Amino acid sequence: MSSVSLLGLGNMGCALAIALLPSHEEVTVWNRTRGKARDLVAAGAVEANTIGDAVRASGTIVVCLLDHASIHEALDPVIEHLRGRTLLNVTTTSPAEARELDRWASAAGLEYLDGGILAVPSMIGSPRSEILYSGDSQAFIRLQPVLARWGRSTFVGTDAGLASLYDLALLAGMYVMHAGYMQGAALVATAGVSATDFADRAANWLTDMTGAFARFGRVIDSAEYALPGQQSLDFSDLSKLVEATAEAGVGNEPIAMVQRLIDAQRALGHGSDGLARIYESLAAPAHHAARRSPIRSADQHNA
Ligand code: NDP
Repeated sequence: MSSVSLLGLGNMGCALAIALLPSHEEVTVWNRTRGKARDLVAAGAVEANTIGDAVRASGTIVVCLLDHASIHEALDPVIEHLRGRTLLNVTTTSPAEARELDRWASAAGLEYLDGGILAVPSMIGSPRSEILYSGDSQAFIRLQPVLARWGRSTFVGTDAGLASLYDLALLAGMYVMHAGYMQGAALVATAGVSATDFADRAANWLTDMTGAFARFGRVIDSAEYALPGQQSLDFSDLSKLVEATAEAGVGNEPIAMVQRLIDAQRALGHGSDGLARIYESLAAPAHHAARRSPIRSADQHNA
């Protein structure tokens, strides 16, 4: 592993730095506010006095700051020292912000790799940790010894925004599922069932239900929403469930949101189509057009 400078020693930055240290290679760390590097220095890291020193110390610069704005705030003043280096950004940004950083890096003469971390700090370095990468594929290959220290690494494409896009897509699914569990917990609480007891039952049920994703995926990709054997939107009508939440006196936003999606497609005359049809209320117009044309980019094939 060649030398690495890591900028940003928040919870995640510290976890990434600690995972690199057993390599016995030089790891330089920097944080805007001093005093966060003590344990890392004791474990063998070198603390840079300034961000300029940190950038000059290594060929690979890992950035783990708060957000997109903080990256520019930190790096713009030292841009002349970045030329010829590799910038690996694992700060959470939107896809558009990641693409902007890619263009900015390219104009400044450095390689850019973007990372979307699918882990919390305590998971970094364990097999449960996965980081998705997009951008410069050569940098991804060359940095394998570094990336492997943090867990599984997966390259999702040369479009720098893709790691962030996957990250956001997975988080969207996670948050809606979590809200669904809480909807159920609020319902069973009216019968005196604790949220803890309901958690076990919900986890088993929802784990089994993820088996439907592959089938939904095939239907959506082929746009064959009327294929026989699917549960229709008319059958999936959740108005009784919505009524039941009102009777129980509990909030119903999660389930009402799903009902609105079902209603929207039924109102368009698709009540006999399968549940996957609600995807059509969510998909971007450009994607509808793309599906009418079978051409796909190399990136989409590789992803
Ligand atoms: P923290 O809030 O713990 O740390 C934020 C870091 O950003 C600090 O080092 C802070 O420095 C630095 N910072 C903020 N603004 C600036 C600035 N303008 N200039 C320079 N440095 C700045 O966040 P985390 O470490 O938890 O998260 C870091 C990134 O990792 C985020 O983008 C987050 O979304 C992402 N991430 C975090 C996960 C987690 O579970 N923690 C999971 C997945 C992704 P200072 O100490 O001086 O304030």
